[in-house]
Amino acid sequence: MQRVINFSAGPSSIPLDVLQMAQKEFLNYNGMGFSIIEISHRSKVFEEVLNSAIENVRELYKIPDNFAILFLQGGATLQFSQVPMNLSKGGFAEYVNTGVWTQKAIKEAKILGIDVRVVSSSEDDEFSYIPEFSFSDNADYAYICSNNTIYGTQYKHLPTTKCPLVVDSSSDLLSREVDFNGNIGLFYGGIQKNAGPSGVTLVIVNKSLVKDNIDRVPTLLQYNSQIKNNSMLNTPNTFGIYMFNLTTKWIKKQGGLSCIHQNNINKAKILYDFIDNSNGFYRCHARKDSRSLMNVSFNIIKDGQKSVELEKEFVYMAEKDGMIGLKGHRILGGIRASIYNAISLEDVKKLVEFMHKFQRSY
Ligand code: PMP
Repeated sequence: MQRVINFSAGPSSIPLDVLQMAQKEFLNYNGMGFSIIEISHRSKVFEEVLNSAIENVRELYKIPDNFAILFLQGGATLQFSQVPMNLSKGGFAEYVNTGVWTQKAIKEAKILGIDVRVVSSSEDDEFSYIPEFSFSDNADYAYICSNNTIYGTQYKHLPTTKCPLVVDSSSDLLSREVDFNGNIGLFYGGIQKNAGPSGVTLVIVNKSLVKDNIDRVPTLLQYNSQIKNNSMLNTPNTFGIYMFNLTTKWIKKQGGLSCIHQNNINKAKILYDFIDNSNGFYRCHARKDSRSLMNVSFNIIKDGQKSVELEKEFVYMAEKDGMIGLKGHRILGGIRASIYNAISLEDVKKLVEFMHKFQRSY
């Protein structure tokens, strides 16, 4: 079986072991004669899958009991609204603007009438860096996006705050360790990059922040109703949660998040070192101190300019060599290699080999 190397930004590559397990179990789950996607979400069989997924996340991130773990729908995008709906106390909320995904979050909070204050932004340089900032102690919450999928920037460490910190971790979910004993109030991400298919959002929320019966917030969008119903206020995405359970088991098998993180560091280093030593043929979008371990966005330079033609040719030739998903986001252009958990060191080496070959021929 010939599979390509998939550098897509999301939905993206899923470990082969996980796909094969899903395939093996698909028609006949655990010898029961039905597929996991054919049975009630209220059945014991599915409940076990859901609870196993929750336990895996708790174990991997070492999440204390005062946090609830939810699997919600509406994508990471719905969290742009759900966060302010639930965490706003009528005061103000502070955001760091590091690109499209924080801009969208800011927009949705404003629609809800929240007093949004943008404490810092890197818009002045096409979001190529994580800016300096400080949050007020008395904000209702402070909001960041830990990894900026389009521009290839990432916070090296999550900031310390006195108020609850909200983190959109959609594109670096389960890729490194996170300390849940400090200031994190709510941590969320769509699972379709590092941990499964699209359609499920993992939300990890400090229970002390959620209230009951929030005025003018629909029941389905109240975290506390979801917590009380173990994410089953309505029919959840049973297949997505099942796949997430398999993927988190796979992460555990790799040695957990510290091993996964080290592997991600090694992979990114190979690629960044190669780009830095390409005599200016390849050039990263992100500044060195802000580079992402997950999304490597770069350009091809000819005569001192970004060359759209060469970039097109690069994507075309890479596909011929069995590597897909390398076209940059439509907003930024260029090339983007997403090297999430399921991409191996060998996969990155193959990409670098190709990049070397491509450079020699132009
Ligand atoms: N936040 C980030 C950082 C993302 O990369 C994305 C999607 N690429 C989103 C939010 C939106 O996710 P969704 O499409 O699941 O709503």
